[in-house]
Amino acid sequence: MLQELETNTELKNALLNSSNVVILTGAGISAESGVPTFRDKEGLWKKYRPEELANADAFMQNPQLVWEWYQWRRRLIHDVKPNPGHYALAEMEKLYPNFTLVTQNVDGLHREAGSSNVVELHGNIRRNKCFDCGKFVEVPDLDLQETPKCESCGGLIRPDVVWFGEMLPADAINLAFNVSRACDLFISVGTSALVHPAASLPVMAMQGGAYVLEVNPNATAITPSVDHTFYAPSGEILPDIVKFVKENRNQ
Ligand code: NAD
Ligand code: ZN
Repeated sequence: MLQELETNTELKNALLNSSNVVILTGAGISAESGVPTFRDKEGLWKKYRPEELANADAFMQNPQLVWEWYQWRRRLIHDVKPNPGHYALAEMEKLYPNFTLVTQNVDGLHREAGSSNVVELHGNIRRNKCFDCGKFVEVPDLDLQETPKCESCGGLIRPDVVWFGEMLPADAINLAFNVSRACDLFISVGTSALVHPAASLPVMAMQGGAYVLEVNPNATAITPSVDHTFYAPSGEILPDIVKFVKENRNQ
């Protein structure tokens, strides 16, 4: 892996000479922490596709089913810890003057690992809000099976995540568009790059002239158009990349 970093001059220049860096992460970066991606088998829940549960219609028709699925996912991530990939990105933030980490993940592991400039495109599964009035509500009991109701308006409480068919938070996606258009280096990590508008970000970066690097054990929708792909788990390659930049940046 390091061999490639030494011999690929364009890649080396992009890593060592960039000032404006954008990272896009997907479920794959958390896979090594034990958080299943949507393409993994999900035990009890495998008879449902995530698209069938993670949407407002499903919640209106059967709030109990959707609530229980989220409670199950929350219990799943409750005890997980960031992995070396998350920590490497937190380190990387300190190496570049302008660094933005855009994530599609809802698990909160980037902040837990120490990243500070994090843009959450799809919300955060640890938060809840009222389906009707939008008020944020704490639900500390991870075993609570009955869908709670809002104390202000009586509406049902839902997780503060972006469901299929819903708009992304405007501030978050606009910021992500702007930094992607203006960056010198864009790294897409652990995302299948299929879900738009997040999947447009690497394309915008390419159009803006950035060097686009991908980290994924498998080829994705953007693999044919990126400058380079490391076919490796993010927890293995990202620490190597950070080490390389630290050792060579000021030479
Ligand atoms: P995705 O579309 O982002 O695909 C997962 C990608 O990760 C795949 O391309 C896979 O090859 C890659 N991958 C697997 N192991 C990896 C590793 N060790 N290192 C690097 N890459 C690896 O994610 P999805 O599961 O199809 O989910 C779609 C949507 O749901 C996205 O918004 C996603 O972020 C969200 N989601 C979030 C979480 C979470 O918060 N952890 C979990 C599941 C789904
Ligand atoms: Zn309410």
